[in-house]
Amino acid sequence: MPEGDTIHKLATFLSGALFDQRLDGARLQGRALPALARDRVLRVTSKGKHLFIDFEGGASLRVHLGMYGSWHRYPLGQTWQKPAHRATLVLSAAGQDYVCFNAKEVEILETCGLRRRDRTDRLGPDLSRDAPAVESLLRRARDLLSPATELVDLLLDQRVASGIGNVYKSEVLFLEHCEPRTRLGDISEETFAALYRTAERLLLSNLGGGPRVTRTADDGRGILWVYGRAGQPCLRCGTSLVRERLGKHARSTYWCPGCQSGQSAPGKETTNM
Ligand SMILES: [Zn+2]
Repeated sequence: MPEGDTIHKLATFLSGALFDQRLDGARLQGRALPALARDRVLRVTSKGKHLFIDFEGGASLRVHLGMYGSWHRYPLGQTWQKPAHRATLVLSAAGQDYVCFNAKEVEILETCGLRRRDRTDRLGPDLSRDAPAVESLLRRARDLLSPATELVDLLLDQRVASGIGNVYKSEVLFLEHCEPRTRLGDISEETFAALYRTAERLLLSNLGGGPRVTRTADDGRGILWVYGRAGQPCLRCGTSLVRERLGKHARSTYWCPGCQSGQSAPGKETTNM
């Protein structure tokens, strides 16, 4: 599942491949986009989980991969690994097809100005790029969310801060000893700060490429603490890890009932959040 750091890497890769290239062809859901086909790529950037491809002529493509989207590159004429009807977007340049399969959203922004600003203003600062002050994140969380919001939903809310996906959500909650269903209004400002500082650290340490790593101990016991490890012993306390579908979107959450119980969560004291 693509998270903020993945999109960041993708933007860097696509930028290297497409910058200043004039597209030979562009198709959205099988339909040709003749205007873009003659246009030159000005820049490829990311904000949170959104990828933007800006064209010299003023148009932009906004791509959100969602849970199932992926980009592939194929030399022109080579057989694709997925069926063509799954291709949401195909950009052809310099003898290559850049194919985006199963994207959640692709939008053409005709003027690189107003509509794009509308869209990105709703996204919070990008943890892997903007180094936001925790106070500003706390302000956004308080403005946007009810104190009853569970931490699983807080961390995934891209309006507070963008970049945290479902894997980091579980990992961050584990590292900060937080019970996933703890409410925003029941954590201290220190715990709030610790959650976002840890998320930022993990996202930044994963910008370089390779598999997503949250655990660096060289003991052969894995590179993630809890994600994908349901039924296995907690690497901190030995309790069997669980997976539950939590939060308003019932997203898979991995956690340790031993060291992430409500009682052991640091900063459990109530504040006026
Ligand atoms: Zn544990």
